[in-house]
Amino acid sequence: MIRKLLRRIFRRPEDHARPNATRPSGPVSIPIAQHGISRDALLPAARRVCEGLQAEGYQAYVVGGAVRDLIAGIVPKDFDVATSATPEQVTAVFRRARMIGRRFKIVHVMFGRDTIEVTTFRGDSEAVTDEHGRILHDNVFGTMEEDAARRDFTVNALYYDPATETVIDFHHGVADLKQKTLRMIGEAPRRYREDPIRMLRAVRLAAKLGLVIDPDAREPIRSMASLLENVPPARLFDEMLKLLTSGHAVRCVRQLREDGLHHGLLPLLDVILEQPMGERFVMLALERTDERVREGKSISPGFLFATLLWHEVLADWEKRKAAGESSIPAMFEAMTVVLDQQAEKLAITRRIATDIKDIWALQPRFDARAGKRPFRLLELPRYRAAYDFLLLRAGSGEVPQELADWWTEFADADGPTRETMLRPEEAVKKRRRVRRKPTGSAQVAPE
Ligand code: ATP
Ligand code: MG
Repeated sequence: MIRKLLRRIFRRPEDHARPNATRPSGPVSIPIAQHGISRDALLPAARRVCEGLQAEGYQAYVVGGAVRDLIAGIVPKDFDVATSATPEQVTAVFRRARMIGRRFKIVHVMFGRDTIEVTTFRGDSEAVTDEHGRILHDNVFGTMEEDAARRDFTVNALYYDPATETVIDFHHGVADLKQKTLRMIGEAPRRYREDPIRMLRAVRLAAKLGLVIDPDAREPIRSMASLLENVPPARLFDEMLKLLTSGHAVRCVRQLREDGLHHGLLPLLDVILEQPMGERFVMLALERTDERVREGKSISPGFLFATLLWHEVLADWEKRKAAGESSIPAMFEAMTVVLDQQAEKLAITRRIATDIKDIWALQPRFDARAGKRPFRLLELPRYRAAYDFLLLRAGSGEVPQELADWWTEFADADGPTRETMLRPEEAVKKRRRVRRKPTGSAQVAPE
């Protein structure tokens, strides 16, 4: 119903007269009759933060992604508040508030289980940049208007006031959202130089919201993609993770390839995507991830990165075995080489790296279907993740589907049935001997 209402309202001709994007006109106050977002649509904690700050005489608005998502009919992931109060003043207003960050302090205000991120309006003067024009710090407070101008896309510079239920729109973001356009505030090349991550955000937000990236924002991407190399790896990793767990990973990765962005991101991703088997595997993994996200299920970053890098491990592993190294040590060597290579670009955290290795290291053990080993494998805490990974390998044609089916059945079966499913040790040994001949098979008999 709200959608219908929005459609009717937004069809009004004055909304279609899109003003010039580079012309910053004054703020427009959009009443609820036009945007349809009642204060009840907010997370109660976000509303209480705004009300608490306003009661003390500060300006406070729900800002950014949450307002954008509500207008677009999407449930917001998180609620952020922007205010004229300094971090110290914010912490003085709320009982459960915690200042975080070193250079630019923000405040986390907790209500029950919810946390609201509260940021003081930022100004855009005196920003310190590196030799490429990338902003290193911008720790000056500013006015609400300056705060809006610092944001990346017009649809992200919307401020919602729960007290009046109005949206304050400095850059025609509501009209852009309605017209399905992702438009940069200011000149795109300069904004990408200031923060190259915005190129990735453009791709992710366009996919998430079903928007078309405005040509002015899209065209510079190809030639500026290399600036991503100057971004600190930890930030790149966070943004990649957001992109891959957005529920639109397949669409994002396609767009990244089209825009020539995948080279800078995962140095190996383009190589993988150029091998037919690798591409099938990665795309299948991303499809499954998208499905899980859309069903509201959790995603393990370790699993995700394990899938992205698997074919590199496979290639290195095969090379080592062909050179006479024995299977398991060769596998561990390959894992280390691939992760080290990746760590230079993306700061994969130690914990995630451990998860990735656990999943990879169990893969050769699925080939053992005799004796006690299958039982031991089932008991391992990482069995489930490793099994899900095996399903992807089978789905992409890397290993026979029969192997994955066997494990599905084995895990479900009762004790006596499991015994009947085991392969005789002798037969396994014989087959292994046969397989050692150079058949070019990708399957390995682990030992
Ligand atoms: P989502 O929450 O769906 O990931 P978002 O746009 O809310 O998307 P956040 O990282 O939560 O992304 O950022 C909140 C807001 O901060 C944005 O809406 C935008 O206004 C601003 N912002 C975030 N990153 C940047 C950036 N790199 N440059 C300029 N503004 C940014
Ligand atoms: Mg957000």
